[in-house]
Amino acid sequence: MAQPLVTASRQYKPGEIAPTSGIYAVIHEGHRPPHELLVIRGEEFPPCRTCKLGVVFEPVQAVEHLTHDLDFAGLVLSTPELRGEHRGARQLSLIEKRRD
Ligand SMILES: [Zn+2]
Repeated sequence: MAQPLVTASRQYKPGEIAPTSGIYAVIHEGHRPPHELLVIRGEEFPPCRTCKLGVVFEPVQAVEHLTHDLDFAGLVLSTPELRGEHRGARQLSLIEKRRD
């Protein structure tokens, strides 16, 4: 069974660490309507400039960050195809032919 993107709609307070990257609803203490922000996993939820520790963050939609994705994280261009070495080798052979 697939895991839900957001396991629980618990709220996070300033000082807590974002468990997942994604869109979070930001709920202030009355001075501003709720709005949404992108938060990256591992970032600390900050206090609000106005309502300070009264703000809460609620996950809306989990979105994986590019560099945290299994297929892209720490990718090294390790194959000749990706480094463009085939093209380089072909160009070298053309230069050698011109010398003849
Ligand atoms: Zn606020």
